[in-house]
Amino acid sequence: MKTIIVGGGIMGLSTAWGLAREGHEVDLFEQGPLPNPLASSVDQHRLIRHPYGDHAGYARMIDEAFAAWDLLWGDLGQRFYAPTGTLALNGNGANWAERSATVLAGIGRSMTEIPVGDLPRRFPLLDTKGVERAFWLDTGGVLFAQDIVAGLVRHLSGQPRVRLHANTAVRDVDLERGSVTTATGAKHTADTVVVAAGAWLPRLLPTLAGRVVPSRQIVIYFDLPDDQRAAWAKGPMVIEKTGDVGLYLVPPAEGRGMKIGDHEFSRAGDPDAPREASEGEMRPLLERCRSLLKGFERWRIEQLKVCFYSVTDDERFVVEKHGARGWVMSPCSGHGFKFGAVMGLELARTIAGGRDAAAHAKWAAGLVGDGPT
Ligand SMILES: Cc1cc2nc3c(=O)[nH]c(=O)nc-3n(C[C@H](O)[C@H](O)[C@H](O)COP(=O)(O)OP(=O)(O)OC[C@H]3O[C@@H](n4cnc5c(N)ncnc54)[C@H](O)[C@@H]3O)c2cc1C
Repeated sequence: MKTIIVGGGIMGLSTAWGLAREGHEVDLFEQGPLPNPLASSVDQHRLIRHPYGDHAGYARMIDEAFAAWDLLWGDLGQRFYAPTGTLALNGNGANWAERSATVLAGIGRSMTEIPVGDLPRRFPLLDTKGVERAFWLDTGGVLFAQDIVAGLVRHLSGQPRVRLHANTAVRDVDLERGSVTTATGAKHTADTVVVAAGAWLPRLLPTLAGRVVPSRQIVIYFDLPDDQRAAWAKGPMVIEKTGDVGLYLVPPAEGRGMKIGDHEFSRAGDPDAPREASEGEMRPLLERCRSLLKGFERWRIEQLKVCFYSVTDDERFVVEKHGARGWVMSPCSGHGFKFGAVMGLELARTIAGGRDAAAHAKWAAGLVGDGPT
């Protein structure tokens, strides 16, 4: 059985990995180099965590996600993950952390509530005034995203039945007949075509443009003062919403950078436009950093990085069969990477095993607790 995959981000590469593990043939087309630094998946790190607000389906799926990463570490011969634990903070009427704790308690994975008065002692690098509720979970951590993508590219390059076509843009897909046409006019056919084109998806499939919207996002990398670097390297991930801007903080585990971003979708921008950002755009986030992070006046901005992802209204993943031979694979809304390995493995199983497409789409949308059957 042969599959064509359009897109060499974590979703396309993981699906290729899943298919190759089962002995199937794959042609993967990527418009840029492999890895492509413009892809959503190519950044130093991405977070994985159990707390998921009201989304019980995704909270349950985290254990499947960890199991799939472990399988990948085995195949790559290296683990690209650092556990950090998860600290979730709420205040000023926001209640994402509490809702997450309620959902997790319902599925048997309780978060520990930390009395607000204990926060200064337990997390001395945070200024927690304004925090009304705080929750802790030992699980969760940092996936070294660009190392994972590079590791997958290396691994797949050595698989006899996988062909990776870097710098080969696909101009047109026919999901009914199972074919793609590249920008140079070459036509390729297969039993199945998977479109895993990230923020570029609506370009290839304009009928999805209303549902899957590219969103320009900015993250900030910081250079930390010497007296804080070692402490933050052992610090937790922080998911915080106590004011107008909610932020997430990725600690600089194992020599990676210290990164902070916000949870607001821009729902605008062109992934092919120049990627420049100014500090002005980040002002509300920087203000929040100033009040939450002790000694922030001594932090230096190292890099403002512009990144694109695709967003749906309900933030659920779109992994659906389209046409007789096509799959659209868009598990994003800014939270897809953590599920990359499990999304790829499961889609490979559904394609190769003829599992029910509707059940698969429902599982990927986080609407059931267990894997597709
Ligand atoms: C700022 C930011 C922070 C994030 N934080 C987290 C996090 O903490 N945890 C988490 O789980 N997720 C997070 N995400 C989301 C996660 O990174 C994405 O969900 C995931 O990387 C999407 O992978 P993908 O393979 O679908 O897309 P991409 O990685 O963008 O890959 C798509 C690929 O398709 C290629 N392509 C597109 N069109 C064509 C074409 N016509 N022909 C050939 N190739 C084509 C592109 O060049 C690209 O390489 C974050 C995303 C961003 C931007």
